[in-house]
Amino acid sequence: MTLPLRDELVGLEPYGAPQLDVVARLNVNENPYAPPQSVVDAIAAAVRKAAEGLNRYPDRDFTALRVDLAHYLAAESHVDFLEPKNIWAANGSNEVMLHLHQAFGGPGRRVLSFAPTYSMYPEYARDTITDFVTLPRRADFTLDIDAAVAAIADIAPSMVIVASPNNPTGTALSLDEVRALADAAAAVPQGCVLVVDEAYAEFRRAGVPSAASIIPEYPNLAVSRTMSKAFALAGGRLGYLVAHAPVVDALRVVRLPYHLSAVTQATARAALAHHKELQAQVAEIRAERDDTVGWLREQGYTVADTDANFALFGPLADREAVFQGLLERGVLIRVTGPEGWLRVSIGTPQEMALFRSALLEVTTPEVTQ
Ligand code: PMP
Repeated sequence: MTLPLRDELVGLEPYGAPQLDVVARLNVNENPYAPPQSVVDAIAAAVRKAAEGLNRYPDRDFTALRVDLAHYLAAESHVDFLEPKNIWAANGSNEVMLHLHQAFGGPGRRVLSFAPTYSMYPEYARDTITDFVTLPRRADFTLDIDAAVAAIADIAPSMVIVASPNNPTGTALSLDEVRALADAAAAVPQGCVLVVDEAYAEFRRAGVPSAASIIPEYPNLAVSRTMSKAFALAGGRLGYLVAHAPVVDALRVVRLPYHLSAVTQATARAALAHHKELQAQVAEIRAERDDTVGWLREQGYTVADTDANFALFGPLADREAVFQGLLERGVLIRVTGPEGWLRVSIGTPQEMALFRSALLEVTTPEVTQ
């Protein structure tokens, strides 16, 4: 039997990194610290309460959760204009991104991004039959803003997506850079939304701003966040977005009804109420990140400056062999980014000690190119 599969999907494998039961899982940028027992109890109580009403569909507009997210983001990013109508949420920021493509992408439209970047971006575009165009980053993974501004004028995309901090490089944008991109997007005659994907925002170094703080100035700017990373809630599946109300209203049109389950809403609200406890180790992870970067550089590796909870290092003559060697020693990292580079997520001090000793055993700077 022949399945009428779309041509562009023939032979493709589903996206996803290996899920292996090893000592140090440093491959998908999770928070290595499980929620503390007090938060586990609060989430369990909230889910128990939600279970009492599971015969009914959940609040389609997740009003209470939007209020809580607006409060959280207002405090975190010092934006006080935020109201629930400025907030969107979905099952992970992956689904938020898909909604953006469903609303602002589509046949005959283009999305522009800057490579190397998050490998799901081309998939959202593919799945919504949107053309995906990339402009290369500079050798140090920063953006060439003049080239980006020129490309926006030239390509006239309906969306520009830029991760800040970027995955897999960790590179963050300055507010001047975000403004330049947002201005260029605003000048596209057919309209263009600038999406800043801030999945790793809470890990940014002191003094690095969030694009959320300039939302009031830009009706075409959307900032996406997630509870999967700093919040230690990857399993809860909750991503959210902040933008002017017309952007959010467009996303409301394309979402499936009741896309956020009552269990998800209850979990996310309980987690938000305990965001301080859940993010208690963020400072420690940042410090561990800076130590890891410093150590790798001491060994002779080049490491991209990172504002995220991971580091991209290289060059390696045979990155697959290094990945395998680490895995044999119980350390799972990620083969991603340009050829010759590897990405390691920041784990606990014990996990990072294992990473360092395993790396020393597997390869030395002398055998790097
Ligand atoms: N954006 C970036 C840049 C990411 O790295 C990730 C996860 N790896 C996501 C979005 C999606 O995360 P989630 O769906 O868990 O919110």
